[in-house]
Amino acid sequence: MYSLQDIRKDFPILSRKVYNHPLVYLDNGATTQKPKQVVEAMVDEYYNVNANVHRGVHFLSQQATELHESSREAVRAFINARSSSEILFTRGTTESINLLAFTFGEAFIHADDEIIVSTMEHHSNIVPWQMMCQRKGAILRVIPMTNLGTLDLDAYQQLFSDKTKLVCCTHVSNVLGTINPVGQIVRIAHQHNVPVLIDGAQSVPHMPVDVQALDCDFFAFSGHKVYGPTGVGVLYGKENWLDRLPPYQGGGEMIQNVSFEKTTYNTLPYKFEAGTPDYVATHALAIALDYVSALGMEQIFQHEQQLTRYALDQLQQIEGMTIFGHASHSTSDLAASMPSQGSTSAAFGHETLCSSDAVISFLVQKDGHYIHPLDLGTLLDRLGIAVRTGHHCAEPLMNRLGIPGTVRASFGLYNTVDEVDALVDGIRRVIQMF
Ligand code: PLP
Repeated sequence: MYSLQDIRKDFPILSRKVYNHPLVYLDNGATTQKPKQVVEAMVDEYYNVNANVHRGVHFLSQQATELHESSREAVRAFINARSSSEILFTRGTTESINLLAFTFGEAFIHADDEIIVSTMEHHSNIVPWQMMCQRKGAILRVIPMTNLGTLDLDAYQQLFSDKTKLVCCTHVSNVLGTINPVGQIVRIAHQHNVPVLIDGAQSVPHMPVDVQALDCDFFAFSGHKVYGPTGVGVLYGKENWLDRLPPYQGGGEMIQNVSFEKTTYNTLPYKFEAGTPDYVATHALAIALDYVSALGMEQIFQHEQQLTRYALDQLQQIEGMTIFGHASHSTSDLAASMPSQGSTSAAFGHETLCSSDAVISFLVQKDGHYIHPLDLGTLLDRLGIAVRTGHHCAEPLMNRLGIPGTVRASFGLYNTVDEVDALVDGIRRVIQMF
């Protein structure tokens, strides 16, 4: 039973006030709030268990190690990896991708090799590859985006050559909410014997993910976006790939034997986990995954889809509204209402689209001009409504849309229809102020 009333009781922060208004937290794409169960698990571990993991002979160390390693198993089960040695703990999606970019680059990339990314990537899935290309003299190729806000799969197929070494693509756009057909993206890459990294930062919190079903070679996500703590994330990699990659950072834990003459490296997954891991955070991540699993990822997906659809319908009734992505919900006279400054973006949000997720990016015009997203966001904040504004770490996508930024409302498992109404009402009030 999906009871929002009960769920919201688990998140004390949701009942606080901001500027004397009830908090309406719609910035879940940036980070999610934490249920009591997660925070209490962290407090409990620090109070009662804390000791460094692995190697310890004493009781506390063994207990902390057990919590840490059972968390790895919990992550494995959550994304249905084949083995827990395929689960690497990192600080988050960004570190997961940097790890892969470094180590994959060292092992497999040579001058003139090519890496494919997409137009709608977060900077985390662009810059590490650019840095690696710079180091290795390799080249970045970019999957273009259609005017529907979907990836152009025909163009994608054309990008492959015998120089292509890796495809890196986001599962869900953090700006448009587009759910990319990653299964198909993987299949196409595999036809060319090219492995694929999926950035799951925006999918894992919202839908069931099965890495074996997707058949992706690597998959990254962040704990804090899935109701877990900050500072912990995951890189999944197929064992046959991880085995062939050199370590990322050197230090304790990642070694088997060290001498000044020769150092040998640990087995998976420890080869990639130098130093003391954030074992309290890994345990709390497992508690967060338990929490969402108990609600059911399918149920969370359904709830957020309903909320997103409702929000799209309501937002589209606001005069001057442009929504980016989610095209099947757009009004047919949108293009006609666009002022010339927004003409390049008029097509976005127009035709029937792709499936999309719990993220809505928009701009509002008043008297033929966009209200600056920062102004809109700041005034909404004064009404207690937390949204994000700006380029959302996706500047190439903004360039493609022909805009400097948007306002983004992103939903989580605890958001309500009343909160969507508060957003819509808040936007109307802000429009009146201009
Ligand atoms: N990838 C996507 C699609 C994101 O939305 C984000 C964060 O917003 C990231 C990567 C980076 O995540 P983190 O900052 O947790 O490393």
